[in-house]
Amino acid sequence: MTNVINEFKHVEMPQLLSLGKNMISELPQILETLKIGKNCVLITDKFLEDKFARQAKEILEISGVHVTLSTIDDSTLAEVDKQLTIIDETKSEFVIGMGGGKPIDIAKLSSFKLGLRFISVPTIASHDGIASSRASLKGVNERHSIAARPPIAVVADTEILDKSPYRFTAAGCGDILAKKTAIKDWLLAYRLKYEPISPTAISLSEMTVHSITENASIIRSKAEGYSRIVINALLSSSLAMCVAGSSRPGSGSEHMFSHALDEIAEKPALHGEQTALGSIIMSYLHEGEKGSQKQIDTMKIIGLPVTAKELGLKDEEVIKALEIAHKIRQRFTILGSDGLTHEAAINAALKTGVIR
Ligand SMILES: [Zn+2]
Repeated sequence: MTNVINEFKHVEMPQLLSLGKNMISELPQILETLKIGKNCVLITDKFLEDKFARQAKEILEISGVHVTLSTIDDSTLAEVDKQLTIIDETKSEFVIGMGGGKPIDIAKLSSFKLGLRFISVPTIASHDGIASSRASLKGVNERHSIAARPPIAVVADTEILDKSPYRFTAAGCGDILAKKTAIKDWLLAYRLKYEPISPTAISLSEMTVHSITENASIIRSKAEGYSRIVINALLSSSLAMCVAGSSRPGSGSEHMFSHALDEIAEKPALHGEQTALGSIIMSYLHEGEKGSQKQIDTMKIIGLPVTAKELGLKDEEVIKALEIAHKIRQRFTILGSDGLTHEAAINAALKTGVIR
């Protein structure tokens, strides 16, 4: 008998996923469908305020929705408190988070704290937090994520995403390719510890890896609408986590390695870049050199860094992160309970070419 999670017992998912060209201009109709109010705070960062947020505000105000623009400096709890005051003072009925990870996470958490819903409007496709229920904030328990609610809607404008800096889109692909080892870790935990699994979530997550691997060349060529492939995969990955009720289908040893790097590296790289680099090494631990080479090949097609040096990380930071990754969280993975020895960490990093 398989130990299966009671799937679909309490699964909260976004009510509406709106993906396509010029989707920002359809925000009024989207709000009409959702019926969540006529007064909101739109949280964004300073860089995007002039670029897209003012445009969205104009479009919404023509349709009779009052929008208060609010910019954030960083993703901290202090920033969440600041937004809580603004949402409260403006008597807003819902929140829009527009931008990369930070504004979306702040919108996710501040709306959750006030019992309001939020709409996620990603302008870069760099990780799968865009539709998930968890928010990552700095300074909160080693950058662990905080439980909140998934967005009521995700509005992804592929015209904006197509034009966003490619490094972010590549990082989004990296966050997806990292699911390969996250799934292997979960299945290992099932076999060794009889941890419950969700076949539906695993299938969804596997599908996202397949889609990025199959379309790697198209993504790299930046053919029109290429960002749609990436955002589709990121959304499906978020849904896999909604079904599982945890980040298990999307986050394993490679994510623990990335979180370890965030703590110790002088200049951490992007989340998706680090998790993909981690998945090269974790693939080696699971399957040997053949497994890691496959991962490296796909990453190279996409244009993702495959060595510590390319990511601006020091060799010793990678080794240290590998040694402490198992302590990052209580989650059974290929790293086991004791983690890698110093010698094993060096060996794995050398064998995979991550350090030379
Ligand atoms: Zn991730």
